[in-house]
Amino acid sequence: MALIAAESLERLKQTVDIVEVISAHTDLRRQGARMVGLCPFHEERTPSFSVDPQEKLYHCFGCGVGGDVIKFVEEKEGLGFSEAVELLADRYGVELEREQEDPRAEARRQHKRRLGQLLERTAAYYAAYLWDSDEAGQAREYLGERGLGEEVLRAFGVGYAPSAWDKILVRGQQAGFSVAELHEVGLVQRGRQSREYDRFRSRIMFPIRDRRGRTLGFGGRAMRSDQGAKYVNTAETDFFHKSQLLYGVDRAKAAIAKAARAVVVEGYTDVLALHQAGIEEAVGVMGTAITDEQVAALSGMVDEVVLALDADSAGQEAMLRAQRVAAGRRMRLRVAAMPAGVDPAEMMAEEGGAERFRELVERAEELSSFQVGLVLDRTDASSPAARDRALEGVAPVLAGLGESALRDDLVRRVAERLDFEPAMVMGRVVAATPASGGREPGPPAREPRGSEDGAAPPAPRRVAELTSRERRERALLAMCIALPSEGREYLARLTDAHLSGSGVRAAAWLREHPDPASNLPEDPELAGVITELVMLARAEPASQEAMELNYLLLEQRRLEDEIAAAGERGDYERRAALSRERAGLVERIAHAQRVES
Ligand SMILES: [Zn+2]
Repeated sequence: MALIAAESLERLKQTVDIVEVISAHTDLRRQGARMVGLCPFHEERTPSFSVDPQEKLYHCFGCGVGGDVIKFVEEKEGLGFSEAVELLADRYGVELEREQEDPRAEARRQHKRRLGQLLERTAAYYAAYLWDSDEAGQAREYLGERGLGEEVLRAFGVGYAPSAWDKILVRGQQAGFSVAELHEVGLVQRGRQSREYDRFRSRIMFPIRDRRGRTLGFGGRAMRSDQGAKYVNTAETDFFHKSQLLYGVDRAKAAIAKAARAVVVEGYTDVLALHQAGIEEAVGVMGTAITDEQVAALSGMVDEVVLALDADSAGQEAMLRAQRVAAGRRMRLRVAAMPAGVDPAEMMAEEGGAERFRELVERAEELSSFQVGLVLDRTDASSPAARDRALEGVAPVLAGLGESALRDDLVRRVAERLDFEPAMVMGRVVAATPASGGREPGPPAREPRGSEDGAAPPAPRRVAELTSRERRERALLAMCIALPSEGREYLARLTDAHLSGSGVRAAAWLREHPDPASNLPEDPELAGVITELVMLARAEPASQEAMELNYLLLEQRRLEDEIAAAGERGDYERRAALSRERAGLVERIAHAQRVES
C-alpha cells in the first residue's frame, strides 16, 4: 500500500471541520477563540476539553489527550491512522493521492501482511478441520456438551488442530510460506534434532483476534489426557502479546459501547457461552489474572468493567494492580461474585442461567469493597494477631482508592469489624498510600500504545495534578511557541536537567519542529503535551521578561537538585560553591520579578 501524500493530508485537515466532527461526540460552546465542552474521553462535570478551530486541534486540560482531527477519529472510533484518514476523506469528499514510500517500510508492511495471511489461512484450515474431519469428532462432542452451538463456534472461528506433527508445517510451505515465517507467527517450533514441527496438535483452537478482527494468535485446548498442558497459547512474538489482548473483543466492542459496560470472564468457552446467550459485552482474559494492559485497553473503551472471574483465587496482587490502574483512569471495577466452583459457561448451560448471570452482573460489588469483605469474612476477630494481619491486608486496598467516600465508608466498616479506632485504621491506610505530594513524580508508568495491531487502543491518560515545576516549564515552552525567535534561544538554553520527563521530550520535539501545530508527534502522551502547549501559546500572554523569569526559576530548581546531589555525595566544597551560585541567582530572580510585574 502506498503512503498517502503529505499534501493530501494537509488538504484533508484544511477541509474537514474539526468542530463539526467533535460536536457529534460532545456539545461545544464558543469561549473566546476556542470551543469548549465536556471531554468525550473522560468523565467530568465541568468542561476542560477545548477545540481550537483556527489551529484545528483539540486538547483536554483534564486528562491530557490532544491532537488533530485525524487523531480524534482514530481514538474515538478505534481506527488506525489510514482508516481514519479514509473515513474523513470519504465524508468530506477529499481525493487522496498516494506516493511511493520508503521501500524498506513497504517491505516491512508487505512482510507483516504475509504473516497476517498465514494466520488467517491457518485459522480457516483449523475451523474447517473441526467441522469436516473424523479426528475432531471428540472435540465437536465436547463443545456440544458445553452447550455451544455451531453458530457461535463459527462466528468465533473455533477450530481443531490435527494430531499430525507437520500438517501446518507442510501445508504452509506448500502455500509458499517459509519455515521462518511459520516460526515467526508461532505455528511451528523446533524440536531436539533441530527439526521443526507443529506447535498445536490435537487441540481445540480458539483464534485470538484484535479489535479489528484480525487473527494474531491462538489458544489451544488439549483433547487428550496425555497432552501435558491443558491450554497452550501462541508464544509471545512481535505479533502477539497476549497480556494486551482481550478474547472476543472484536465481536464484543459494539455491545460494550451500547451497554456502557464490559464483562470480563476467564476462559474462551465462557466468552462463547455468554455471547450465545445474548450477553455480548463479554470478553476473556484467557486464563490468567487480568493484566494492567488489559485494564488500560478497556478503559479506552468503557468506564465500567464487571469482573466475573473467580475473584477469590484470581490473585490479590493482580487485583490490586488492576484496581490501581483503573482508579488512575477513573474507571469503575466491580466484581460479580460467581457461585463457588461454577464458571459462566456452566451457568449458561443451566436452565435460567443467563438471567441469573445478568442479575449477578447488575448486583456486582465494587472491587475494593469485595476484597475488603473477603478479608473480613475470613478473619477470626477474637485473635489479636489475626486482626493485625487483616488490617495489614486491607490497608493497601483502601490506599488504592485515594481520597473518596467509598474509602471512608470501608475504613469505618473495617474499624467496626476488627474493633479498631477508625483513626488508627486511617493511619495505616495513609501509611500504605504510595508516596505523593511534595516529591516530583517519577517517569510516567509505561502504558501500552495504540499499535498498528490495534491490540491496545490508545487510552486517555488521566493525569494527576501537574507539579509546580511542570506548570512552570509548560508556561515557558508555550511562550517558546508564541514567540518563535526568543523561543529558539530558550530552547537552546534549556537542558534536560531543567525539565521533567515530559518536558524533556516536548522541548526536543519543539527544537525539531518549529511549527508544532501542524507536526504532531505520533506518541499519544507527547501529542497531548504538544497540543496543550500550542493552545496555551494562543491563549496566554507571552513576553521576553516572563520567559526569562520562568527560565530562572527552572534554573533555580536545577541548582537545588545539584546541591542536594552534592550533599548526598558528601562533596561539601561543591555544595558551597553551588550555594553561592544560587544566592546570585535568587537576586537575579528578584530583579526579574520586579521587571515582570
Ligand atoms: Zn479529558
